[in-house]
Amino acid sequence: MKSEMQEAVQSAKDAFKTWSHTSIMARQQVIFNFREIMKKNLKPLAAKITEEEGKTWGNADKEVFRALQIVEHACSITTLGMGESLAGIAKDMDAFSFRAPLGVCAGISAFNFPTMIPLWMIPMSIVCGNTFILKPSERDPGAVMMLMEMLQEAGLPNGVVNVIHGTFEPVTFLCDHPDVKALSFVGSDAGGKYVYERGCKNGKRVQSNMGAKCHGVIMPDADEKSIGQLVGAGFGMAGQKCMTLCVAIFVGEAKNRIPELVELSKKIKVNAGHETDAQLGPVVSPESKERICKLVQSGIDEGAKIVLDGRNPVVPGYEKGNFIGPTILTGVKPNMTCYKKELFGPVIEVMTVDTLDEAIKVINSNPYGNGTVIFTKSGSAARKFTHEVDVGQIGVNVPVPIPLPMFSFTGSRGSFLGDLNFTGKAGMEFYTQIKTVTQHWRD
Ligand code: NAD
Repeated sequence: MKSEMQEAVQSAKDAFKTWSHTSIMARQQVIFNFREIMKKNLKPLAAKITEEEGKTWGNADKEVFRALQIVEHACSITTLGMGESLAGIAKDMDAFSFRAPLGVCAGISAFNFPTMIPLWMIPMSIVCGNTFILKPSERDPGAVMMLMEMLQEAGLPNGVVNVIHGTFEPVTFLCDHPDVKALSFVGSDAGGKYVYERGCKNGKRVQSNMGAKCHGVIMPDADEKSIGQLVGAGFGMAGQKCMTLCVAIFVGEAKNRIPELVELSKKIKVNAGHETDAQLGPVVSPESKERICKLVQSGIDEGAKIVLDGRNPVVPGYEKGNFIGPTILTGVKPNMTCYKKELFGPVIEVMTVDTLDEAIKVINSNPYGNGTVIFTKSGSAARKFTHEVDVGQIGVNVPVPIPLPMFSFTGSRGSFLGDLNFTGKAGMEFYTQIKTVTQHWRD
């Protein structure tokens, strides 16, 4: 194992010598080629995700489409990566800056977006001239291996991207290796803090996207589609996305719509991801199911009411699957264990408050700051909300506001450690360092 990991670093280090001197147009061309090949393979990629992770066909399709958009964004490097210049700073003297690659970069990714998360990292890193080592999630590495074959077919030289498999050992190895210059991490709090602290201590640049608890605020004037959108955002991907709306805060009279939430949630079809009628697939593992069910039970024990109990659904033909049907807890309070911990499953926790100010206070008191949404017809309520919540991604009548890749994925507080976010301009800045040249050519 150790020697394979060493080999990966050596191969990335050797490849950097030539790849970093390859013209930016040639690097961009490889990404263009990769995009074409990936586009032809969206269905097989989605099928692999469904097979390994359990996500429904529909959700897997959306993921690979998102992943493709990220690849397309990396093709903008020839404008995105431009430096600055200032002519005539003194007689016959000009100054300019340009962006240079860092060297060998590495990424550690979570299970829940097995193509999208690695592609937050790889295309931008390599188009900037770096070489890369990926440690995918041990739970579903298949789709990423398909992407590796596509990169090879796209003309990427050997050694520019390398994959090492495993659980913790390769993570520690990457954090400690002196030739790894930057680390990108996406996953849970424990791993994210570990990588950030160990990587920084070893002098590396680190970006770390971690856990989340996203709140959806339903105002009394929310339009008729809002509850349906909330249901989609809460139960889509079986609640296993960091932008899941897992807490619904009903403000004032909006609480009269809680029965509508329950009725709509009951209609969701639970089935294996590859079945065409599946709207909600299994969670990723039996351990995950057990963890989620225990948290739901803790909520009940601490005084919440279970108004929709999906803990033991019967899914014909898949009796041993890790299924949890839509589950709704009402009367949830901030001090309950189920609220304080990340659920990461198909569970919506319902809270009620009297005012928007109270809703904002709840959101800002939560340790996470990944995403939040307001459903309202009022521009002033929406404006107040967007300015006062201390959260990275904000949706106004948009239930899952995952930013397009030309913007950064801007989680804050407990959801992010580092200075430069993934994707967007910051994503490019993360993978480059600036050189500033002051030159004097006497007339
Ligand atoms: P995870 O932390 O279990 O695993 C993520 C990666 O880190 C894997 O490659 C794993 O092998 C490694 N790892 C796990 N524990 C580690 C540890 N203690 N030390 C070092 N490495 C470790 O996460 P997961 O279950 O794969 O993914 C779900 C989590 O990821 C949730 O918490 C979710 O909110 C988070 N997530 C966050 C974002 C975001 O952008 N904020 C996006 C997707 C997922």
